[in-house]
Amino acid sequence: MSLNHLHYETIIRTTVPIAITVVISFLYTKKVEHHQTQLRHIARSDHLTGLYNRRKLISWLKNKEHTVSNTTGHLLFLCLGVDNFKHINDQYGHEFGDNLLRKIAVTVEQQLAAMNITNRDTVISRVAGDEFVVGVYGSLPYSLVKSISTELLKSVNKIECVNGISLSVDACVGLTARSRPFCYEQVIKEAHIAMYEAKKVSKNQMRFYSSKLAKKVKEKLNIVELLKSALVNDEFYLVFMPVYGPTGHRITGAEALIRTHNDALSTYTPDVYIPVAEEHGLIHQLDEMVIRKAFKTLKHSSLNQLDTFSLAINISSQQLKNKHFPKMANTMALEEEIDPNQIEFELTETALVDFDQTSIDIIKQTKTYGFRVALDDFGTGYTAFSQLQNFPVDTLKIDRSFTSNIDGKNIDQGKMVDVILSLAHLYNLNVVAEGVENSEQLDYLKHRHCDSYQGYYLSKPISWHEMLALINHEST
Ligand code: C2E
Ligand code: CA
Ligand code: CA
Repeated sequence: MSLNHLHYETIIRTTVPIAITVVISFLYTKKVEHHQTQLRHIARSDHLTGLYNRRKLISWLKNKEHTVSNTTGHLLFLCLGVDNFKHINDQYGHEFGDNLLRKIAVTVEQQLAAMNITNRDTVISRVAGDEFVVGVYGSLPYSLVKSISTELLKSVNKIECVNGISLSVDACVGLTARSRPFCYEQVIKEAHIAMYEAKKVSKNQMRFYSSKLAKKVKEKLNIVELLKSALVNDEFYLVFMPVYGPTGHRITGAEALIRTHNDALSTYTPDVYIPVAEEHGLIHQLDEMVIRKAFKTLKHSSLNQLDTFSLAINISSQQLKNKHFPKMANTMALEEEIDPNQIEFELTETALVDFDQTSIDIIKQTKTYGFRVALDDFGTGYTAFSQLQNFPVDTLKIDRSFTSNIDGKNIDQGKMVDVILSLAHLYNLNVVAEGVENSEQLDYLKHRHCDSYQGYYLSKPISWHEMLALINHEST
C-alpha cells in the first residue's frame, strides 16, 4: 500500500464522519429553528382563530409607543365586539360560538385585505371571547378611519349562516387614535371604553374615544362608588308623591320615590343614578331595599290594610329578567304583613327589555300573588299600542311629556293623551296622568275620564308624615 493511498484513506475516515455530523447538526438546527418558529407562532397566535393573540398585540403596540408622531404616521386602534355573543353561545352551544368567531376572524381579515389595509403595518387579533382588535399604523386620513369601521361592521353583518344555521350577526366598534407617543395600556383601555359606550346605544354602532367620554366614564364610576357606600351605610330614604283620584281632590295612593342623605350622591337625581345602578349590577339590591322600606313605612301606618289606598313602587325593568322577583316580593310582603293588593309595581318600558315570554311570565307570576303592575312613562317607550293586549298590566301611566303638551290653547296638543285614554279604556286599564302642573291640564284630563292624577300642581313629593297630614286634612 502506497503512502499516498494511506493518506487518502485517513482523510476519508476523518472527514466523512465530520461531514455527516455537520449535515446532521445542520438539519437538526433547522428542525429546532422550525420548531421554535412554530412555538413562537403558537405563543403569539390565538388558538381558535389563528389571529394574533393579546401578547402579540401588546408587543406590536409597544413597538409603536415611542415611534408614533405626526410626521411619520398615526396609530389607529379599533376594538370590535360581537353583540349578544353570550346569548348566541347559550342558544346554539360553544362549538357553534367557536365557529362563528372563526368566521368573524376570516371576515375581518378579508375585509381589511380588500381595503388594502393589510399591506400596511397592521395587527389583527382576538383579545378575549368575542373581542377583536385591529391596529393600523401609517398615514391615515379620517375618511379611511371611518370607512374601516363602517366596512368592518357591514362585513360582519353579512355573515348570515354558520353550521347551516342562519342568524344575523351584529357588532359594535370602539376607536381611538394616536399621533404622539403613548402608553399601550391606555390605548387598549380607550378602545374598550368606546366600544362599551357604542354597545349601550344600540346594535351596530361605532364610537370614537374622546376626553368627554372619559369624563363621563369617570363620573359614572364615581357614582357607582357613591351608590355602593350609600347602600352599605343605609343612606337612602323614600319620599311619596300623592296620587289623586278621579275628582282630583282625594288622595287615593302614593308613589314611593328614592332619595339619599349622602351629600355627594344627592347632587345627582334618581334619573341619573338609577340607570348607573342598572348598568353596574346594583339595581337588584337597590330595588329590594326600596321595596323593604316602602313596606315598612306602610306597615307602621294607619293606611295599612286600607283598600282605598294604593302604594306604587318603582322597580327596574331588569326585574323582568329576574325569575326570583315575584317570590322575593311576596316573601317580603308576608314578613312585613303587607297586603299585596295594596301594592302596584311600576315598570318603565325600555328598549333594553323586550317583553318576551319570560318577562310576561314574571309579570303574571307577580300578579298571582295579588300585586298590581303599571307601565310607567307610557308612550315614550317602545311598546306598540297594538301589543298592549298581550301585556298583563293593570295601569298605564301617561308620561309627563304628554301631560305638559296640554296647554289649553292648542287642542291638538292633547291628542296623544286622548289616544292613550281611549286605548286604555278599550283594554280596561287604569290610567294615571303624571306631571299635572296646572289647572287646565287637570280639567282637560278630568273631562276625558282619566282615573288618577299626580303632579306638582296637586303635590310635590313629600314625606310620609306630611302625606298622612294631607289625607287627614281631606277628611275633616
Ligand atoms: P318616574 O317614576 O317617572 O317618577 C316621576 C318623576 O317625575 C319623579 O322624579 C317626580 O319627582 C317627577 N315629577 C312628578 N310630577 C312632576 C311634575 O308635575 N313636574 C315635574 N317637573 N316633575 C314631576 P324623581 O323622583 O327624580 O325620579 C325620577 C325617576 O327615577 C323616576 O321616574 C323613576 O324612573 C326613577 N326612580 C325614582 N325612585 C325610584 C326607586 O325607588 N326605584 C327605581 N327603580 N327607580 C326610581
Ligand atoms: Ca314611576
Ligand atoms: Ca313616570
